[in-house]
Amino acid sequence: DLSIRVRDLNLWYGKNQALKNLNIDLFQKNVTALIGPSGCGKSTFLRCLNRMNDLIPTVHTEGLVEMDGHDVNAKKMDEVALRRRVGMVFQKPNPFPKSIYENVSYAPRMHDIVSRKADQDELVEQALRDAGLWNEVKDKLQEPGTSLSGGQQQRLCIARAIAVQPDVILMDEPTSALDPISTATIEDLMDRLKEKFTIVTVTHNMQQAARVADYTAFFHLGEIIEYNDTKVMFSTP
Ligand code: ADP
Ligand code: ADP
Repeated sequence: DLSIRVRDLNLWYGKNQALKNLNIDLFQKNVTALIGPSGCGKSTFLRCLNRMNDLIPTVHTEGLVEMDGHDVNAKKMDEVALRRRVGMVFQKPNPFPKSIYENVSYAPRMHDIVSRKADQDELVEQALRDAGLWNEVKDKLQEPGTSLSGGQQQRLCIARAIAVQPDVILMDEPTSALDPISTATIEDLMDRLKEKFTIVTVTHNMQQAARVADYTAFFHLGEIIEYNDTKVMFSTP
């Protein structure tokens, strides 16, 4: 089923056009990889899906981005609803300077998904389990998130993103700051998370796209020059 529909999307930073007439359908409960050389617009495109470009004053956008049939840029679409539907994981793990528990429970509490302590505890455990981190942290939930290793911090950030039960998780080069073992762990995790979430991930790494992605979109100079089933895209004729 369709999760995200993008039609005739154009984006400029001042006078420089960074996205050119993008048209793409992203499917639910799949991993889609966005690949292509540095500077071709992958991160810019990702920021169109959660409206983070709104924070950049020089940005001008035209075109349609729909999520589950709702226009993401419609005036009535409230920011809070969007934040609940779309989680984001960045290249560098960026836990809040708070406890592991607080990193995961903060957003669900703010969104009134949970208020009772017991419900919060349960949600924190579930998110940490889904992020494959529970066994490693269950005895130290009150320790700072920043005390964990890089790979664990990134899984904590994934737990934080999924704790609000979004439909979509955006990942911007989620493994490029990690060692090979942590990278493999996150790749395995993506494979499991797609049972519950639609995942859109940016990567430079073709091998990673081939390993994790169901669909791959190849960006070049602000355009999507190929979009296909990953197996078809990487098959050698
Ligand atoms: P990628 O993620 O593929 O490396 P980006 O989306 O970061 O590419 O960048 C696409 C183009 O937009 C580049 O030419 C980049 O210089 C430009 N760009 C990105 N962010 C900004 C910004 N905040 N202001 C101006 N130009 C930007
Ligand atoms: P609508 O109000 O568009 O008829 P709903 O009752 O389903 O549809 O949605 C209620 C509100 O939730 C919408 O007005 C919108 O602000 C928000 N919303 C719905 N879908 C999304 C979405 N995919 N992303 C962000 N916000 C959404």
